[in-house]
Amino acid sequence: MNWDIVIGIETHVQLKTNTKQFSGAPVEFGKEPNSQACLVSMAYPGVLPVLNKESVNSAIRFGLSIEAEIASRSIFARKNYFYPDLPKGYQISQFELPIVGKGKLSIDIGDDLKEVRILRAHLEEDAGKSSHGVIEGKSGIDLNRAGTPLLEIVTEPDMSSAEEAVTYAKKLHNLVQWIGICDGNMQEGSFRCDVNVSVKKKDTDVLGTRREIKNLNSFRFIKQAIDYEVNWQIERLEDGGEIEQATILFDPESGETRSMRSKEEANDYRYFPDPDLLPLIISDEDIKKIKKLMPELPEEMKLRFEKDLGLSAYDAEGITSSLDVTQYFLSLIDLGVNPKLSANWILGNLFSKLKEKDIGIENSPIPPKKLSSLISRIQDKTISNNAAKQIFEILWEDSDKEVDLIIDELGLKQISDSNKIDEIVDEVMKTNSAMVEEFKSGKDKAFNALIGQVMKASKGKANPSQVASILKEKLSK
Ligand code: ADP
Ligand code: MG
Repeated sequence: MNWDIVIGIETHVQLKTNTKQFSGAPVEFGKEPNSQACLVSMAYPGVLPVLNKESVNSAIRFGLSIEAEIASRSIFARKNYFYPDLPKGYQISQFELPIVGKGKLSIDIGDDLKEVRILRAHLEEDAGKSSHGVIEGKSGIDLNRAGTPLLEIVTEPDMSSAEEAVTYAKKLHNLVQWIGICDGNMQEGSFRCDVNVSVKKKDTDVLGTRREIKNLNSFRFIKQAIDYEVNWQIERLEDGGEIEQATILFDPESGETRSMRSKEEANDYRYFPDPDLLPLIISDEDIKKIKKLMPELPEEMKLRFEKDLGLSAYDAEGITSSLDVTQYFLSLIDLGVNPKLSANWILGNLFSKLKEKDIGIENSPIPPKKLSSLISRIQDKTISNNAAKQIFEILWEDSDKEVDLIIDELGLKQISDSNKIDEIVDEVMKTNSAMVEEFKSGKDKAFNALIGQVMKASKGKANPSQVASILKEKLSK
């Protein structure tokens, strides 16, 4: 590979406010077309925009969460273009002076932490939607979405693989939900990414020409689109061709990208300050007030879990990867379960099952309380990990069942009585004297083979760590 991949992402985050960016119309999704559109959404002549204070607070919360500078004065501008779902003929956005300046978001790449620089985040409003064919042979315009508050978050071109891009997108997706500014619903379009991709030869610092993949609303599509696009660009360059700056679309059906418009066809938006809106002034006092209300951030919580609970960096990252996972984890440890065991069970058995069935942890068929009673039986050594897995499967089907009853019914209780284990070990050493000799002559492997025999003799029920220590002691005699 002679090529470096360069990626920068612009994310449209729909803010979780009750009303629109510049009017009191509601922002509920999935309502009867045009039932959530007031005169401002429909751009009647003479109406005036009034800025939504809650969306400003959301932008400030975001700025604080990425350690960015919050502009004490920012400006709304008109971005002019024609489209049937934009009756005003312009979108209100921020251009030269955005509310949130430079910040940063760290992402975990393998064992390393990589910093993605955020260039800016600005407030704007969404457009309406054209629906083709809802009325036979015609297109309809639905202005329910028109004027919905958006925060557009723009990174520097700091990511260098599809994996990094997806990790960044997931991290940002978690963060905006965590700080309560976005519902994170990607299917409904509440979080969508425009991904800018270019490639360059390894031996140069000069960036290649980017192509911008519009409106990706799933992590899988982000990965697929980047992989396809990178290959396409490299092939083209290696064939002696050139890359033209363009806006492109990803087609999930074919897995390919195709051009929407080239740079030549790009709009000249003729931005200018919106004369209907005053500059947005934010005082230090305003920022301080909001800062006080900020929750502990996922990154901070992650470090705390490593430090105070002894979780590995990997586990702490997994546990704080979403608010719902964190809450599940916290309920477990509130019930007195060992944090490391809890993290293992959540990120291991529970996650793989939830993923297999495509269920979110907030809807887990096994609630924290039930999992806690299972894990506490491992903790007090009543059952082995393997037995617990068996019980987990049963609880998954019917979480009303009592863990202790299942243990009794299936006879899964571990043998932890050392006299009993003593007896079994003696028996096994007698019948496997060759293995014992092997071990004594220096073959360490024979030790595990002997443990295997003891486990077999106990029908898998002997407590493995007790077996190991008793066996060790007897062999050293
Ligand atoms: P536009 O609105 O024209 O898309 P922006 O400045 O808003 O321009 O966004 C540009 C995005 O493209 C940023 O995320 C930036 O990091 C990214 N970008 C800029 N240059 C490159 C490049 N050569 N390769 C990949 N991404 C790039
Ligand atoms: Mg762009």
